[in-house]
Amino acid sequence: MASGHTGRPGQQPNAKEVGPLRIIDLTLGYSHGMPAYGTAWYSQVEIRPLMTPETDPTGHGRRFSQFVFNPHNATHVDAPSHFVPGGKNVSDLEPDRFIGPALVLDLTHRGLYEPVTADDLEAAAGGRMRPGLRLLLRTDYVDRHWGDPDFWQKPPYLAPSAADWCVEQGAALVGLDFLTEEPGDRDFPVHRRLLEADIPILEYLRNLKALRGPTVWLMAAPMLVEGAEAAPVRALAVEGGVPYGDG
Ligand SMILES: [Zn+2]
Repeated sequence: MASGHTGRPGQQPNAKEVGPLRIIDLTLGYSHGMPAYGTAWYSQVEIRPLMTPETDPTGHGRRFSQFVFNPHNATHVDAPSHFVPGGKNVSDLEPDRFIGPALVLDLTHRGLYEPVTADDLEAAAGGRMRPGLRLLLRTDYVDRHWGDPDFWQKPPYLAPSAADWCVEQGAALVGLDFLTEEPGDRDFPVHRRLLEADIPILEYLRNLKALRGPTVWLMAAPMLVEGAEAAPVRALAVEGGVPYGDG
């Protein structure tokens, strides 16, 4: 996403055919001044010039940028240490968590303020879930409501039973395009359940509606930041021409 875009996602191409492959971008990117969670300690995203062609002291017209943001502002992975004292950091997680077959669960019947429960996940999975698969949970909430002033107040959210289901099913990763916790819940039961089970959470996905099949190849490795509890991710799905596991 180009610096300066503050509007809704979807302004760049969302899917591209490359030979037999179809590459779908699931990323809500970082952009200067983008909406940010509205609480006092939360930072705004700043992407600012450190050097411009005019200020380059060598006269070579170079550009350098400086990024100032916390990773939770846009598409990112939460590692266990986000909630679990002594838990794994982003830099402790193996890349294969983030690269491999993923099952897409259609939960678009869940609307504003509604919980997504274990029964919803079980029904949407239709018997396709296997231990070690990554889960992509789709409601289209980010696509429809990013930029709304009450974005963080009205989302669908995961019920604690849904977190239990993901743990029991042996998910390698849980990605979603809505909010992880019920708005106003200060006990964070879903983060705790998943992260205590060492299941990273891939938050603020978008464009899951562009996926055709129930199973896709996901590539969503976080930026390698030593000791961090979370890191930005470019989340991409690939369809066609690659093995999908047994989905
Ligand atoms: Zn987060």
